[in-house]
Amino acid sequence: MSDAVPFADLGALYREDAPAYDAAYQRVMDSGRWILGAELTAFEAEWAAACGRRHAIGVGNGLDALVLALRALGVGAGDEVLVPAHTFIATWLAVAQVGAVPRAVEPAPGRMVIGLPQVQAAATPRTRAVLPVHLYGEPADPQGIAAWCAQQGIACLFDAAQAQGAQHGGRDASAWGDAASHSFYPGKNLGAFGDAGAVVCDDDALATRLRQLRNYGGERKYEHAVAGVNSRLDELQAAFLRVRLARLAQHNAARRAQAAQYSALLAGTPGLTLPSADVPASCWHLYVVQTAQRDTLARRLAEQGIATLVHYPKPAYRCAPFAAHGPAARSETDRLCDEVLSLPIGPHLSADQVARVASAVSAVSAALA
Ligand SMILES: *Cc1c(COP(=O)(O)O)cnc(C)c1O
Repeated sequence: MSDAVPFADLGALYREDAPAYDAAYQRVMDSGRWILGAELTAFEAEWAAACGRRHAIGVGNGLDALVLALRALGVGAGDEVLVPAHTFIATWLAVAQVGAVPRAVEPAPGRMVIGLPQVQAAATPRTRAVLPVHLYGEPADPQGIAAWCAQQGIACLFDAAQAQGAQHGGRDASAWGDAASHSFYPGKNLGAFGDAGAVVCDDDALATRLRQLRNYGGERKYEHAVAGVNSRLDELQAAFLRVRLARLAQHNAARRAQAAQYSALLAGTPGLTLPSADVPASCWHLYVVQTAQRDTLARRLAEQGIATLVHYPKPAYRCAPFAAHGPAARSETDRLCDEVLSLPIGPHLSADQVARVASAVSAVSAALA
């Protein structure tokens, strides 16, 4: 279909800067160094600065970033960690991997992320850490939650996998809390051409523990201070990420403009709930609407060549590994999982394509109302 609207177009991201990516590739090949070299050091400095942090530690992927950050913060066996019910399952898997126990926090009323009141209500005397997620690019009350955790002596780690470039309180959303973890999975706002991730933080000792943990427990060969793992961001991906990082502000500006365009065009559509996220604060990783007719709407859009996705169809606590951690009664997260639909958004789309999606969504919604 010639006028199809794809959900994402990762090839277009390469073509946009092909000479720069090819030069980055050549630079790394000529260097003869593939792991823990100059490209990673340079990317870590650039990413720490972009996040308003003193340190960035590159790791193998976003799940490892969460796991290693929890370990570096001293979270382990038997500790309770507060996690959003509505998130990608990796957030929960990281808690399970360090032997800790996830405790679900339902979203703030009318929103899709958690806030401080929900964290306070869910906390128990065993709560050792809070792990909020800036889901879809929307900051999850970073200032409020970070300040409360600091006052309670509870670790505060933000899952910023979907929030590269999100803003909060005049700073980057990743500048809050003890640390923030990132995924550079290809489809994220800052994506590599393979798997990659990072943790950002300010504390020197925390950064040292992370550099040890990702490299067999030591910063140098054959020094093993802790029982670490092998999870490093490789030189090729670091070099590619430096090229992509130079485009991040421009790509996020395009996403914000598209979100504003969707919200203007779709306002008042019968049966459709639009995202309440603040346009300048969110980096609009996803533009997520809600409707009780979600599956029908998705099917009718697909018939017109418009791709949509569901983030996510099932809460973590309805998945086998975490079935013991969910409420028996139907929750707000259960409802969200039945009703959310992600519309195409991203630097590959034109304003005309966004308008075409919005008019198709309006027409189908009006017919279903
Ligand atoms: C993508 C993602 C992760 C995991 O990142 P990977 O790089 O795929 O391991 C974790 N949390 C959230 C919220 C994500 O969207």
